[in-house]
Amino acid sequence: MYLPSQEGINTYSQMNPEPEAIPEPKPTVLRIEEPNIPTPPASKVFDKPPEVTTMNKKRDIPEGLWTRCDSCGEMITNKQLDEQLKVCPKCNKHFTADAKERISWLADEGTFEEIDSDMGSVDILKFKGVSAYTDKLKAYQKETGSIDAVRTGFAEIDGNKVGLGVMDFNFLAASMGSVVGEKITRLIEKSTKKKVPVILICASGGARMYEGMFSLMQMAKTSAALARHAEEGLAYVCVLTNPTMAGVMASFASLGDVIIAEPGAMIGFAGARVIRETTREELPKGFQTAEFLLESGLIDMIVHRKQLKSTLSNLLKFMS
Ligand SMILES: [Zn+2]
Repeated sequence: MYLPSQEGINTYSQMNPEPEAIPEPKPTVLRIEEPNIPTPPASKVFDKPPEVTTMNKKRDIPEGLWTRCDSCGEMITNKQLDEQLKVCPKCNKHFTADAKERISWLADEGTFEEIDSDMGSVDILKFKGVSAYTDKLKAYQKETGSIDAVRTGFAEIDGNKVGLGVMDFNFLAASMGSVVGEKITRLIEKSTKKKVPVILICASGGARMYEGMFSLMQMAKTSAALARHAEEGLAYVCVLTNPTMAGVMASFASLGDVIIAEPGAMIGFAGARVIRETTREELPKGFQTAEFLLESGLIDMIVHRKQLKSTLSNLLKFMS
């Protein structure tokens, strides 16, 4: 997610997963799920103060054309950033991307056919916190142009037919409520019927606490659908982007036949501080980063965003 600053320079928010740069994730995930806290900017999620660029005061820089990398400080034109698939050309930091962008990077041109695009969340608990759930939904719908936090459909990746689901961290931290769970489940079930593999591009702060138990039930529902998909001998690949946490990581995001992560992605269940306080032990360096989890064997490979399409394409050919 990037946040347009007042003067118009975009500054990427602070989910910086670089091992050295990992902030002490204060009440990380739990804060995403905590309904009383105004939801992302992700800067709040990971508790680093937003950086304010000094260059935005210079009058000779046109507004909204530059973004400063919050990892290395490089100023990058937004055009260049788009050409680089939102990866910093200097330090390789992978920025947050929305669902539409990711679909355009992965699916062969014109092949993505979205399903269940009109499915929207219901405020079943009549939730009232600092702001009502329905107000929050409306605000994010306006901001992102999406009805909820995942887009699903069928597409071709280098000619391989797949069910493709992409979560959008810009929408309420891509938290999983009933709609996210239902759309993903339907995608998996339809893919099973069509006998095509499933690819899920994951990102999430976890279950959506505005929907309480209904959110948690999605963990079982999506996992069961994947089990039936696997029984038919069909492949499932998940791609973990920054960050993939909590209830999503504890369900479909960790069930891939192959689990891929983007470089530097923060991946885990509970936040590091909660774990540290519970276990009363110091956590290893780089804890909960993709690189650490690759070494520990939880994920299978780390793939640069530019190589993701060709990697998926090779895997799909290999597994079909
Ligand atoms: Zn950078």
